[in-house]
Amino acid sequence: MSPLKLIDGKVAAAEVLQQVREDVRTLKADGIEPALAVILVGDDPASHVYVRNKILRAEEAGIRSLEYRLPATTRETELLALIGTLNDDPHVHGLLLQLPLPPHIEETRALQAIAPSKDVDGFHSENVGGLSQGRDVLTPCTPSGCLYLLEQTLGDLSGKHAVVIGRSNIVGKPMAALLLKAHCSVTVVHSRSADAKALCQLADIVIAAVGRPRLIDGSWLKEGAVVIDVGINRIDDNGRSRLVGDVDFDSALPKVAAITPVPGGVGPMTIAFLMKNTVAAARQQALSSQSEAVCLSTY
Ligand code: NAD
Repeated sequence: MSPLKLIDGKVAAAEVLQQVREDVRTLKADGIEPALAVILVGDDPASHVYVRNKILRAEEAGIRSLEYRLPATTRETELLALIGTLNDDPHVHGLLLQLPLPPHIEETRALQAIAPSKDVDGFHSENVGGLSQGRDVLTPCTPSGCLYLLEQTLGDLSGKHAVVIGRSNIVGKPMAALLLKAHCSVTVVHSRSADAKALCQLADIVIAAVGRPRLIDGSWLKEGAVVIDVGINRIDDNGRSRLVGDVDFDSALPKVAAITPVPGGVGPMTIAFLMKNTVAAARQQALSSQSEAVCLSTY
């Protein structure tokens, strides 16, 4: 396998985290200690692992972390009250609500309760709307990580034809918006698309975010395409459990100019961009409170 074809998410995430550490040092020198609060409701084992990893990465980056592990029986009103308290706390800059929530809590209502300025997952409708208008807002971490990998690989993305496979609110839709903002021509294909494969064959860039193991094989790809595989699928491989992407890596490799592996591609980028968003939120909140102070002092 040519190493030149492999887009290494671990190396790219380490670069992003190094920049985050430098930004944290600068903020601390200005008297601001960036802080991320993570709320987890319930007992989902995977969510507990994700939260532990997020807290660890935050600490490594010098970001103060606050962890709220609430029982599955937590009432929606209690969760909303905690979110309100953290929204009002000037020492908390980022607020993340780990999904999924227990079924008795309405996900949209909980996500909408997070102050947009602290919404480091970029799921609040104000940030979603801002992204679709091409404004600089907090954007979802996984697609932001994918865009970083693409720009590191291809440089300027202007004029490229990108096909995004999947239209979820977490990956597909924000990915399409980010690629539009980067001046790509964007096609989004999904489960109801008439011929997803034919559309994909036209793409310079393919982003696969489906959740179907190895759905996209080499025959879906144009010669020289750049492929970002977001999918994380656990399969049984002759009695051994292992992770594969949405792209059939072995048949794609001879066709592509570059491709992310699974694992070790997009995965590490998500947490790196969560830290980057937390630092951006802390900086923005500091600027806003400075300008508020200036406004008040002029009266
Ligand atoms: P989702 O289930 O919310 O959305 C899947 C999308 O795929 C849907 O929009 C659906 O229309 C589309 N789809 C389904 N079958 C299709 C088909 N045959 N052809 C074309 N489109 C089809 O999933 P999601 O949350 O967007 O996640 C997608 C994958 O990415 C999953 O494997 C998930 O585990 C992974 N993921 C990885 C990261 C990471 O950090 N690397 C983060 C988020 C999601």
